[in-house]
Amino acid sequence: MATRQNLAALRVLVIDVIDMDTIDVTNLNRQFLFSESDVGKAKASVAAEFVNKRVPGVKVVPHVSAIQDMSDDFYERFNIVICGLDSVEARRWINAKIVGLVDDNDPTTIRPLIDGGTEGLRGQVRVILPTITACYECSLDMIAPQKTYPLCTIAATPRLPEHCIEWALVVGWPQWHSELFDADRPDHMQEMYERALERAKEHCISGVTLSLTQGVVKHIIPAIASTNAIVASACCTEAFKLATAIAPPLDNYMTYAGNDGAHAYPFSLDARPDCPVCGGEALRVDLAKSATLSDLLESIAVQAPKASISAASGPLYMRNPPVLEKATRANLTKPLSELFESGSELVVTDATLPFSLRVTVRFSQDDHR
Ligand SMILES: [Zn+2]
Repeated sequence: MATRQNLAALRVLVIDVIDMDTIDVTNLNRQFLFSESDVGKAKASVAAEFVNKRVPGVKVVPHVSAIQDMSDDFYERFNIVICGLDSVEARRWINAKIVGLVDDNDPTTIRPLIDGGTEGLRGQVRVILPTITACYECSLDMIAPQKTYPLCTIAATPRLPEHCIEWALVVGWPQWHSELFDADRPDHMQEMYERALERAKEHCISGVTLSLTQGVVKHIIPAIASTNAIVASACCTEAFKLATAIAPPLDNYMTYAGNDGAHAYPFSLDARPDCPVCGGEALRVDLAKSATLSDLLESIAVQAPKASISAASGPLYMRNPPVLEKATRANLTKPLSELFESGSELVVTDATLPFSLRVTVRFSQDDHR
């Protein structure tokens, strides 16, 4: 949001903005283009209207849509793409799309991708020059897994209010309900809170509240408007430098930490030759000969959380359609050596990814895992 205000002030002439969300009352404290009368309207449309009125000579074109619904023709129109996305999945998608549009013989198809994100008092900005610098996918394994608590702690020795909430979510809910927990349903959330509170009382733990329950089950980190403003202005400064060449752009990653004093730290990430998006090589995985297909899927879970996998001989495991899933399920527990030879190249697909992943699996000599 702050990005849009800044870009307009820099006199970027045409800004297309894509956002599928509508304005919620909880957005108003940090998304300054919106006011109470806008609640329920599309974010993209209201933001566009505001900036178009406020900054003469700038044209903002709204698109109320998911980024995944826009065609290649749409993305090919732009010189620079700036993202403020809310998930790893969406970032991987746009990264693969923009890298995929590069034609090696036409440098104008290298569209800089600027990505900004915040988490509470921390933030990061990166500038991706597709096929030149590291892309988003190159550094996928840098992403820290979500904070979780060991199951033994939450089940046996809870000490924190968070342990009680996590227990109600992971252990309790599946016992009480056949229906999956839905964090967007107020009745589910209320029950989760009450159950967690009950458990906390049994263990003499205080501090379970409804808002903590919401935070833990949704893994919410509160958004802080001023951190967003810092990251948004850094994104816009990079766009401005790239558009005008008045100064070298960020090479290629900057973290901002406001949670530990305040400092910004820029560093250069290297592109990975085995990056499935911008590198040419297949991802290499080494596993013991006795490892099963399940073990293999687990070892690539960061890259492909819902992977289907095929060898040259045919499908090894397919998540869809159900009939194929059933037919290939038995392979999951088989040792890899029964399914293919060491050094084989496999193809991994995942419904959340706009590309397929090539993986070369080698069996290690000794069988100790
Ligand atoms: Zn890459």
